[in-house]
Amino acid sequence: MRVSRRLLLKGAVAAGAAAVLPERARARERVEPEAGAVGMLYDSTRCVGCGGCAAACKESNGQPWDDPRELSSTTRSVVKTRRLGRPAADGAVTALVKRQCMHCVDPSCVSVCVLGALHKEGRGKRDMGGERRGTGIVLYDKDLCLGCRYCQIACAFAIPRFEWREAFPLISKCELCRHRADPAQEGPRAVANPACAQVCPAGALQYGWRADLLVEARRRQAAEPGRYQERIFGEKEGGGTQVLYLAAAGVSFADLGFPELPEGSYAHASETVSHAPYLNGLAPIGLYAAAAYLVRRNRKEQEGEPSHEEEKP
Ligand code: SF4
Ligand code: SF4
Ligand code: SF4
Repeated sequence: MRVSRRLLLKGAVAAGAAAVLPERARARERVEPEAGAVGMLYDSTRCVGCGGCAAACKESNGQPWDDPRELSSTTRSVVKTRRLGRPAADGAVTALVKRQCMHCVDPSCVSVCVLGALHKEGRGKRDMGGERRGTGIVLYDKDLCLGCRYCQIACAFAIPRFEWREAFPLISKCELCRHRADPAQEGPRAVANPACAQVCPAGALQYGWRADLLVEARRRQAAEPGRYQERIFGEKEGGGTQVLYLAAAGVSFADLGFPELPEGSYAHASETVSHAPYLNGLAPIGLYAAAAYLVRRNRKEQEGEPSHEEEKP
């Protein structure tokens, strides 16, 4: 296949970025959730597919209602119906799943963003006792964005969407309704206030501290053991996420369209390897190849927005 000038340019940018990454990135430590990490718990078994969350998301972000079926530059949240490979424990042949940014504990999108347009709020901020104190929300600063689309390529969940129709396109993704935070309140609503969670009529969406949401998820599993599968998606996958998922017994997370991920984050693995001193000379060559491969793999699905994720037949 012919490698276009655009592909080569992208590879060159990636290689250049690797060459100037700071010394502090070496010997990269594993990132743990912030003590002040907020998040959401989505319970697929409670969701009734009303679409209220998607409508509230659009309103909250000033985007037009267009009955979305997929994430796009004007849709930051969508609820999908997935056909299952086999019936769930309760006999259901479909399952619902809400998709949005997962607010990863150690996000690949942040790792590859050269100018820090994507950043994890409060990363590195510590209180007097040395404890991490950030909210962990993955925020986007459009004034710093180059429009290079590396975040799209790096995200294992295929979340960031590109404004293809704009003259100077930027990306779009959920920022956990940070703009709706109410500092007058105590608790998690003082730092963010997701419109989607506020309107859910079925109790399928809950916003709060990530640690509390994990406790709540385990409580539900223990209270109704036949109802849920054992895993809580996002507890550990890909280094953990701040949006967590419960699924019905007999429904796998692959059924819901999630990738199988290792427990460690890709950001940790790639930064550790690419910044190892003995590999510094090889990093640009490797990144040329990796960037070209990833751009080719993702170009087809991402250029044809909104067909980023295919539903099962
Ligand atoms: S889901 Fe994707 S866009 Fe969201 S924080 Fe994780 S890597 Fe970034
Ligand atoms: S938190 Fe806000 S931006 Fe994110 S999906 Fe919910 S309503 Fe949309
Ligand atoms: S508002 Fe709640 S019940 Fe309705 S589609 Fe969204 S998550 Fe499901």
